[in-house]
Amino acid sequence: MAAPRGHRGQTVDVTDVKTPRLRWRLASDETSRTLFPPDQLMERHVGVGEYRSMEFLHVNARRVINEVPAASKVPFRFTINAYRGCSHACVYCFARPTHEYLGLNLAEDFERRIVVKVNAVERLAAELRSPNWKGDHIAMGTNTDPYQKAEAKYHLTRGIIDVLGSHANPFSILTKSTLVLRDLDVLLRASERTEVRMAFSIGTLDREVWHLTEPGTPPPDKRIEAVRRLNEAGIPCSVLIAPVLPGLSDGDAQLTEVAQACAAAGATSVSPIALHLRSGVREHYLGWLSRRRPDLVALYRDRFRGRAYQGESEQRRICEVVDAAFARATGGARRPSEQGRREPARFTTGHEAALTDAPRHAASAIVATATRHEERDDAQVTQQRLF
Ligand code: SF4
Repeated sequence: MAAPRGHRGQTVDVTDVKTPRLRWRLASDETSRTLFPPDQLMERHVGVGEYRSMEFLHVNARRVINEVPAASKVPFRFTINAYRGCSHACVYCFARPTHEYLGLNLAEDFERRIVVKVNAVERLAAELRSPNWKGDHIAMGTNTDPYQKAEAKYHLTRGIIDVLGSHANPFSILTKSTLVLRDLDVLLRASERTEVRMAFSIGTLDREVWHLTEPGTPPPDKRIEAVRRLNEAGIPCSVLIAPVLPGLSDGDAQLTEVAQACAAAGATSVSPIALHLRSGVREHYLGWLSRRRPDLVALYRDRFRGRAYQGESEQRRICEVVDAAFARATGGARRPSEQGRREPARFTTGHEAALTDAPRHAASAIVATATRHEERDDAQVTQQRLF
């Protein structure tokens, strides 16, 4: 089959344009309860070159602004996620089970078969023009990373920023990727018209741990450098030290090192978050652990004791170490997160984030990741509706 022109004119090999057997009807929007109806599905594009071994599943989403269910305890009500699945392939990723709602698996499929809402920019422009839209803060990076590898090819996040900026609509972005620096120009343009906030997720500076646990992400020192560049450019950028992994990145010296580097890079705040393991991710993570670090299995058994969360004392220790290091490094000029000081962060899922400035600025909080992020919520809610 001839190689057709892909999105934005890039050439892709289409080896099979049949629709995979995906359970799209489990992912609903507010109105139709079908986010990707069959008639709007779908082309399966097999990546070539640097995207070799990946597949991109193109869909036309009916809506791109998702409303978080009112019961969710996160400091934002609206999110955008242009991609589902994430090539960053973090072993602990809490968004993995969302792929299962689509009939894909939470392991290789999550990392390599990426759903791309190719009409996200156009849909957003239409939704922002609607008289029903009140201009609320929109959080990105609440499910998967908006600057994952696919973004270098599709430029959807860049287009979304451009549209949000032109509508003076406040927004925040959480990422692990230095690709965000590509978009410094549109971020600065948007920040002249509205509130723009950034957060980086940097769990450790330990290269060995990084390589082992986040194989598709840019190195942590490059992320620290990106934090510095964003803040110097005038885009406030905080850091989520997350997730802190037992036996891998939770040593006092390791936590102190990250907090100090964040302070030196001008991070507006830091929020440490201890690893938690919910069903689905738990089995995936512990299976990986038993293969790659069997020496740590007993520690995890002891830390979790069959629960999703570690004990509160461990979470507090992590917060205290990070807070003290950050305070020392900044001379108290910048604060660690309110969340970190008050109680261990528990609002964690998908793209592992936490409340950063949320207690004081809920409406404009930097991105957080909800225990039940919006697409997982959508799917769960829909499952409840349908079955
Ligand atoms: S934790 Fe974030 S960056 Fe890592 S795979 Fe999940 S969504 Fe991607």
